[in-house]
Amino acid sequence: MNSSINKIINAINNAKNILIIPHINPDGDCIGSAIAMKLFIEKEYNKYVTLFIQSKVPEVYKFLPKAEDFKIENDICNQIFDLVIAVDCAAYDRLTNAITFFDKAEETIVFDHHKTNKGYGKYNYILPELSSTGEVLYYFAKNSKWQIDKEIAEALYTAILTDTGGFKFENTKTKTFKAVAELLRYDINPSEIYKQCYESKPLEMLKLRALAINKSKILYNGKVIYTIITLDDMRNAKALNEHTDGIVELLRQVDTVDLAFLIKETEDGYSKVSFRSENVDVTQIASKFNGGGHTKAAGCTIKKNYTIALNKILEEIEYVYEFSK
Ligand code: AMP
Ligand code: MN
Ligand code: MN
Repeated sequence: MNSSINKIINAINNAKNILIIPHINPDGDCIGSAIAMKLFIEKEYNKYVTLFIQSKVPEVYKFLPKAEDFKIENDICNQIFDLVIAVDCAAYDRLTNAITFFDKAEETIVFDHHKTNKGYGKYNYILPELSSTGEVLYYFAKNSKWQIDKEIAEALYTAILTDTGGFKFENTKTKTFKAVAELLRYDINPSEIYKQCYESKPLEMLKLRALAINKSKILYNGKVIYTIITLDDMRNAKALNEHTDGIVELLRQVDTVDLAFLIKETEDGYSKVSFRSENVDVTQIASKFNGGGHTKAAGCTIKKNYTIALNKILEEIEYVYEFSK
């Protein structure tokens, strides 16, 4: 159940020390939403807001205003935050090492758009029908009469742009374009933002994509495709963690494919899995492994090595695709 806007505004109004938390492996939506939220609160309520990051802001989003302001746990471990706001974070455990700040806070607010989000905050504002947390914040701000400026518009536009895959996923609706049309009034440069997000890749990232495609395997008459990226692959390609972004979307482009997934070996030897599908609700598969997300895009971490993880996933999808073997 969502909390009323009034209750959320009261919590913000009464807070002295505010922390904003994006999810682990941050994407454009959570980074853009976190920045927009900070700027909104600082402007509207005249108080300083701290931004949390688990390790570092992905290079691709460093062009955003305030991208340099994110703090890691060590920078702020002596501080107590009376209000913690989670953005775009589908589940409590995705707060990872920010959980201690969340648990210690008197008030917590969750802004999100994942349908699997159970509402783990004291106050929750979760709208699964919207494309992105950026869009959720846009409409929340509009209802609250918060003023947008150029920096906020840039952050929200980037959040919406990236979570809709450049306005091409099915989560792109009339409301999405209405929000974006309004954001464009603040003198932002969509072509430049597009270039920053999609056409400024290091060569290592493209080489990793090539490797991922070369290693991919097809099953069930082409209906299923998957690839595995190991730590060795990452080291050999000199790639950063964030450079696997977009690989599963590439696999999904294959004409015969209905389900695409990427298994990525994590530093602790576990398996981070990304699922994308056209016809199958992938939250059903991800939730078998305590993950979640959206109908067509979901993820999970399986605490097993990639060989075992692969077998477990194949067991889960077997009954869905069996008929087309
Ligand atoms: P990814 O493949 O990691 O980009 O994730 C696809 C979607 O599922 C994103 O919206 C994620 O926020 C969400 N997601 C990924 N992993 C998890 C998880 N462990 N729990 C809940 N949601 C997740
Ligand atoms: Mn996200
Ligand atoms: Mn999102």
